[in-house]
Amino acid sequence: VLPVIALVGRPNVGKSTLFNRLTRTRDALVADQPGVTRDRHYGFAIHDSRRYIVIDTGGIGQDDEDIDAQAFAQTTAALEEADVVLLVTDSRQGLMPGDRIIAEQLRRMQQPVHVVVNKSEGQVGVSATAEFHALALGDPWAVSATHGDRINALLAQVFADL
Ligand code: GDP
Ligand code: MG
Repeated sequence: VLPVIALVGRPNVGKSTLFNRLTRTRDALVADQPGVTRDRHYGFAIHDSRRYIVIDTGGIGQDDEDIDAQAFAQTTAALEEADVVLLVTDSRQGLMPGDRIIAEQLRRMQQPVHVVVNKSEGQVGVSATAEFHALALGDPWAVSATHGDRINALLAQVFADL
């Protein structure tokens, strides 16, 4: 059974971009994986010769005030399948109320959660991630899904938990 990593976060933080970077063109192989729904939100990826499944959720934090109930339920189901969860946030926007709402749900889960501060290309040091410590989900990871910055370091940490 392959480990499952779920990507969650508000719209436009870069979940799908990160999903595409992690899975590249390997999505097609997912259909052959037993027990995995043939769904475009599932992808097959490899880190350091270890294969894993990525789930790109679109569901929670749609709106800071009014979270869509059906999307919330779908994402909850995806989270239950996950071995590790990445809460994706946006360094350009900074910490948003929607991030806090999602973090609150994730803190109730058993699985390890990592806060990913995306769109951090060109930013060095702790300044990009400092405010995200407030989510109380450990040290945030500054990455760039579009540039690929620090993605491998993040994955090394994720796999260390598995
Ligand atoms: P999603 O709604 O969370 O799936 O977000 P998307 O993956 O669709 O990305 C939303 C927007 O953010 C798109 O315009 C992406 O090109 C952009 N984006 C994603 N990752 C990065 C990044 O690392 N750096 C920058 N500058 N933009 C990014
Ligand atoms: Mg998306």
